[in-house]
Amino acid sequence: MQIELQAELFRRYPKFFRSPGRRLVDPNVISGLENRLLDDMAPIDERGIECGNGWFALIDRLSRACENEIDTLMAQGAPKEGWPRIAQIKEKFGGLRFYVHGPLSDDLREQIVQAEHEGSLCICERCGAAGKLREGRWRRTYCDNCEVETF
Ligand SMILES: [Zn+2]
Repeated sequence: MQIELQAELFRRYPKFFRSPGRRLVDPNVISGLENRLLDDMAPIDERGIECGNGWFALIDRLSRACENEIDTLMAQGAPKEGWPRIAQIKEKFGGLRFYVHGPLSDDLREQIVQAEHEGSLCICERCGAAGKLREGRWRRTYCDNCEVETF
């Protein structure tokens, strides 16, 4: 994704796209206090958003919902190490993949799955127009114009 568009998302949702820090792991999974905080570096920190500009609005909507969840957690007094944080955003098999570290509500998990397996498969990854999944040389979701222009 074009760097200016990525920067816009990072500016709009500063808590969800915060710099990597330490992440609180479920204390029921790993015992020992020293093991309950993990380094939260993720692919997004090295590679940025790995898909086309056309999915900007879709990613914007999911990111806004995640930022709202953080606001709810903050209101409940949850520590920063326990907030969800973006881990990776990329294209895979023609669809969006949106990986998050940390807790999310069932409703938001469902929204993400829907965007990955339905929403993104109807939107041109390159320009954002209505598109469909193509299974030619590459598996990708493009509109008719972009499919012709980039053939
Ligand atoms: Zn297009």
